[in-house]
Order: sequence, then structure tokens, then C-alpha cells
Amino acid sequence: MNTLKRIDPRRPFIVTAQGLRRITLGVAGVVDTAHASNTAAFDARHTTRRDQPKPRRTTAAPQQVLLVAAHADRGALDDHTRQTLAAAALIANAHTEVVLLVFGEFTGDAAALGADKLIELPMFDRRVYAPTDELNALAACVAAYAPVHIFLPDNVTADGDLGRRYAAAANASVATHVVEIDAAHVATYVHAHTALATRALPEVVLLAPHAVDPKLPFVGAGERVVWRFDREAGATAAQSAVRDLGIDEIDAAQVALEEADFIVSAGNGVSDVPAFERLAATLGAAIGASRVAVDDGRFTRDKQIGATGKTVDATVYIAFGISGAVQHLQGIKDCRHVIAVNLDASAPITKRANLTVIADAREVIAALDEAAAAARGARATSAALLDPGKVAEGAFA
Ligand SMILES: Cc1cc2nc3c(=O)[nH]c(=O)nc-3n(C[C@H](O)[C@H](O)[C@H](O)COP(=O)(O)OP(=O)(O)OC[C@H]3O[C@@H](n4cnc5c(N)ncnc54)[C@H](O)[C@@H]3O)c2cc1C
Repeated sequence: MNTLKRIDPRRPFIVTAQGLRRITLGVAGVVDTAHASNTAAFDARHTTRRDQPKPRRTTAAPQQVLLVAAHADRGALDDHTRQTLAAAALIANAHTEVVLLVFGEFTGDAAALGADKLIELPMFDRRVYAPTDELNALAACVAAYAPVHIFLPDNVTADGDLGRRYAAAANASVATHVVEIDAAHVATYVHAHTALATRALPEVVLLAPHAVDPKLPFVGAGERVVWRFDREAGATAAQSAVRDLGIDEIDAAQVALEEADFIVSAGNGVSDVPAFERLAATLGAAIGASRVAVDDGRFTRDKQIGATGKTVDATVYIAFGISGAVQHLQGIKDCRHVIAVNLDASAPITKRANLTVIADAREVIAALDEAAAAARGARATSAALLDPGKVAEGAFA
């Protein structure tokens, strides 16, 4: 009889402070949830009972702090930030507290993301460019909590810049584009991605995207801390070096698809292209298209999304009459909310979509355009009522 045990190489895994760990089904041992390194055994017990609430990572008294700093976008943290927070939570030992400092408003569940403490600075909106104030806020937070390491997502929006500014100002050791991390080391690619350079965990860690799985088998304490940062008091002479000229609103149709945050996309199921373009203008969304819609001349080639088109990472992606072929899905894998409008409830796009509307694209486009125009009109009226100057202007124009 063949007594060899067969092991599925694709069985679930998690990334821990010790690196990638496969889950061994049937592990019975005692689970010390106080330490992240036990998460593999812990997860094994919980894979069959996913509906059960996750335990706290630790309840021991904190003796040191890991600080994670990042910007929120409309109340949420993006995947990259969640990965950075997960890295800190996985590295943290039982006596380490993970403190999350959020620039901007944050309405999410900090505990579920692995944070023990949450400090929210709602005065720093992504739309405001205030690098010196943000640097002062980060420095004040570091002074208050004395973290052993500071983690930021290495992105081009704001956090990568803030981390570098902080490291330079504080003369702190820093590692950028970190692709591998454990409790003692970080690694980053060198020589055109042909080799890895490793060093001891520095004071500031700027994590590359997708280095860590953000799904954690535990939760943090998630305690909200009221921490006042006085922007004026933190002002320095250097502040005059930066002047925020505000944001110029441009026509959404002109936004490069790769940079667009809101995209409406048309496939073969969209026959009335002018109505679709009107909707995009009403919503202020950029326009994308499937390859079929581009091939038959309804849209120009630069609008094509997918494997042989553009890769987008919009917060909202509405796919009208797009089947969701694998080549198309490849281009929208990083979109946060995908909404599909399709006549066919079994179209592949429905598996990727967070919300599917089973309806005729033409009808939905018309109804949505009407509703969005009405909502915009109502908002403009109430804004005018709140601003007497505008009412007078409108009345005498
Ligand atoms: C090498 C290669 C590269 C490719 N690269 C890309 C790429 O980059 N991007 C890309 O998109 N494709 C790409 N394709 C093509 C891809 O395989 C699909 O053929 C294409 O994405 C299908 O486009 P579609 O979903 O718009 O059209 P269809 O497959 O025709 O699907 C139309 C969908 O609309 C629905 N529908 C029809 N009428 C209505 C209506 N009135 N209201 C609502 N829904 C309706 C249908 O139910 C259907 O689901 C590539 C293919 C190959 C082989």
C-alpha cells in the first residue's frame, strides 16, 4: 500500500515574520495568539471556521511601538497601505503595539487591519499639498510614541515622499522599495531586478506594493486616540518654501486612463455611444472600452483597457455591456469597486464585479444620466442657497 502523504502545493499560505508559511491542515497544538509567528498554526484552526471572530493579536502590556503612517483616500486606506500595516502587525511581537497614523479622514475598521491604536489627522486631505505640515505632524507623532520602526507605503502619491522627507530630516536610516521583510531584515531589488540587497531593519521602512498579504488571521486593539496636532504651532520658516496653488479641475475625458479614479467603460453591449459619452461627462468620469468596442471603431485605441490595452486602478469602474474576458479583467485587476451592467447574469464580469446590474445598458445609461444630472442640479441649488452672494449673482445675471 502506498503510504506517501500527498500534499497540495497550492494549499493556502500566509506571510509571517518568518516568511511564507504553508498551512498544515489538522495542526492541533496550543495557539499563542500573542505572537504573530504562531499565525500559521492559528490559521489552520480557523480555516474551517472562517465565520468565527478573529482573536486579538496580543493582550500583553506594550513595551515598544511600531508606527505606520499613510494617507487615506475618501475615508479608506488602499491595498498598499493595508499591506504595509499588515507587515508591521506580522513583525510585531507580543509586547509591541502597532500605531496607525492616518493623514486625512479614516472611517474604516483599524482593528481589522491589524492596528492597535489609530490616530486620525482629518485636516490633511489628499487634495491639500502640505508636505512640511505633514512632516511636522509625523515628527510630533514620533516624538510622542518613540517608535522603533516607522513603516510607510512606498507610493508616488504622498507617503513615499513623506517617508523620504522624514528620514532626511531626522537623519534616520531608511530602506526604500522594500520587497521582502521579516522581523530583522529588509530586502530590495538591485541591478535591474537581478539581485536582492539585504540589510537590518532600518528606522524607516518604505514598502513596495504586494510585498505582504494584507489578510491577517488576527485583529488589533483598534483603539482610537484623540491626538491634537496644532498645524500653526508646527509651522516653520521652511513652510514658505511650499505654496499650495490648489487643484485645477480638468475635463475627465482628458485624464489619462491610468490616472483616472472613476472610469465608465463600454463594451460590445453599448450601441448608443453618444449617450454613453454624455453619461461620462455628467458623472465626470474617464472613458474606457473593451477591445471589441475599439476594434469596430466605436472608440479610439487609447481607450482600450486590458492585456493589450491599458491597466487601470480606478476606485470605481463601471463596465457597460462588457463580458469580462480574461484579457479585459487583466486590465482592471487593481480597480477597487467594479460595477457591471450586463444582460447576462452568467457573464464572467459578474464574478469580478462587486455589484452587478442585470439590465439593458442603454436603459441604465439613460436612467443614470438623468439621476446624476438631477443630483448635480440639486447640489448646485443648495450650494447657491448657502452662499447668498451666489444667489444674488444668479438672480441678477
Ligand atoms: C491576445 C488577445 C488580447 C486581447 N486583449 C484584450 C484587451 O486588452 N482588452 C479587451 O477588452 N479584450 C481583449 N481581448 C479580447 C477579449 O478576449 C474579448 O473578446 C473582449 O474583451 C470582448 O469584448 P466585449 O466584452 O465588449 O464583447 P462581447 O464578448 O461581445 O460581450 C458583450 C457583453 O455585453 C453584454 N450585452 C450585450 N448587449 C447588452 C445590452 N444591451 N445591455 C447590457 N449588456 C449587454 C453581453 O451579455 C456580453 O456579456 C484580447 C483577445 C486576445 C486573443
